[in-house]
Amino acid sequence: MKRILIILASLIAIAANVPSATLAERCDALTRPELQAVVQFLADDLVEGRAPGTRGGELAEIYIQSLFKLLGLQPGWQGSYFQPFELRGFTTRDVRLNAGGIELGQPDDLMGSYTGEEKDFTVSGRAVFCGFGIRSDIWKWDDFKKADLRGKVLIVRANDPGLWRSDIFEGRTLTYFGRWTYKMEEAARQGAAAVLIVHTDETAGYGWTVVQNSWSGEESYLPAELQDSLRFRGWIREESLKQILAKRNVKLEKLYQKSLQPGFKPVDLGFDVSFRGRSQFRSLTTRNVVATIPGRKPQQIVLSAHIDHFGRNPELAGDPIFNGAIDNAVPVAALIQTARILNEYKKDLEYSLVFLACQAEEGGLLGSRYFAENADPATLAAAINFESTPPWEASPEIFGVGARFSTLEESLKAVAAAQGWRYSEFSMADQGFYFRSDQFPFAQIGVPAVWVSAGERSLAGENKLEKFFRGGAYHTVKDEYDPTWELEGLRQTIKLAVLLVDRLNREKDPPRWKGRLPFPISGK
Ligand SMILES: [Zn+2]
Repeated sequence: MKRILIILASLIAIAANVPSATLAERCDALTRPELQAVVQFLADDLVEGRAPGTRGGELAEIYIQSLFKLLGLQPGWQGSYFQPFELRGFTTRDVRLNAGGIELGQPDDLMGSYTGEEKDFTVSGRAVFCGFGIRSDIWKWDDFKKADLRGKVLIVRANDPGLWRSDIFEGRTLTYFGRWTYKMEEAARQGAAAVLIVHTDETAGYGWTVVQNSWSGEESYLPAELQDSLRFRGWIREESLKQILAKRNVKLEKLYQKSLQPGFKPVDLGFDVSFRGRSQFRSLTTRNVVATIPGRKPQQIVLSAHIDHFGRNPELAGDPIFNGAIDNAVPVAALIQTARILNEYKKDLEYSLVFLACQAEEGGLLGSRYFAENADPATLAAAINFESTPPWEASPEIFGVGARFSTLEESLKAVAAAQGWRYSEFSMADQGFYFRSDQFPFAQIGVPAVWVSAGERSLAGENKLEKFFRGGAYHTVKDEYDPTWELEGLRQTIKLAVLLVDRLNREKDPPRWKGRLPFPISGK
């Protein structure tokens, strides 16, 4: 009888939710080799920087598919682990810009991408300064004032006016409308032929070398993004723009002053700009890798991390491979281990889970956007993303980029408090990081979304993550795997995600937005 009671008791224990402490202990039991495994492979030179549509990128995809199979997860897209999608890739070289007799060139003065199929291209139009290039109902701001900008070359400032005026936008915190991606999309909507964003370290948030590295390879787009007349999009260095303007006696500082006023109107600069260069075009198919674990509810929580990085650049002297270890092999390891642990406790899942290893993030969040645009927002309860996860020692803190826009903030705070972690804001959150990784396409379709991570600071107060972003490793060939990494930040991130999913499973209501959102939700 006693035996039967014990068996009954254990059956009841299986049916009830496993205690959170058990999940935390399971994360603590991950060994260092287990934490190293996925990171080490994905960041190896043999995987060649995992660019979409390359051998290395495809190797990474098939490796992740194998891991999903090994873990016993189910295929996540129409009976397959792969969600293929088409990309248009453009490699732009030898760009020369002529503006009123002044000739400038790539890569010292400008960087940019031509999006047409011609091998030798020319794009030209009248230069118009359009302030910040922003039109937003949320912030009641319109830099265009219904001007006819069809066929023009728009010159716009980086960032948003809040950087100088704390009373508008979100002050120094970059909004979606300050992002270069938004400005290029808006220039396309205005019917422009070309757009150049003026680069300064302060307004871009990074130096010119980051622009050079990010724009020197192939630029990729979803076909749907190219249904307009915008044919050249890029950046110009402020100093180089000043050279052109000096010849016309136009003071950039004066234009800047005007651009901070809501009454600003586009300024015809009085000269034409033409771009010439060579371009290589290809159409390619790449793949997201998707797996699911069914829960009791059909509503899904998506967990994501991007597979890709910048691949190889054979023109670089020395090391040509962008291994992308922190960005984003470590986060993919977080995704895989989170899937592994939650799958071990799948009987307890309320929400169904989707694990999305997405492609082409570096090219503009293309894989996650394709996934989100083909999903039914009503079936998605939340999106949890891993990005540039700190691989060093554990932190006394955790952060959730964009958590503050939804009740995910309270959920994360509760998880942090139970683990004795301080809840912090990412110190670089004001640079628009929420809009720069795969959580954002989910937010854009209305799904509360967050990027979760172990904190930046070590116990001793050192901020290695900030050093990574600002110190020359981010988006360069120096982002390499280091076998001496403790990987305790990775463990902490896995634990945070596992416990956040556990917490959401126990909460009565799904996450919801709160307050005013600094970006538009599509269809609303
Ligand atoms: Zn990146």
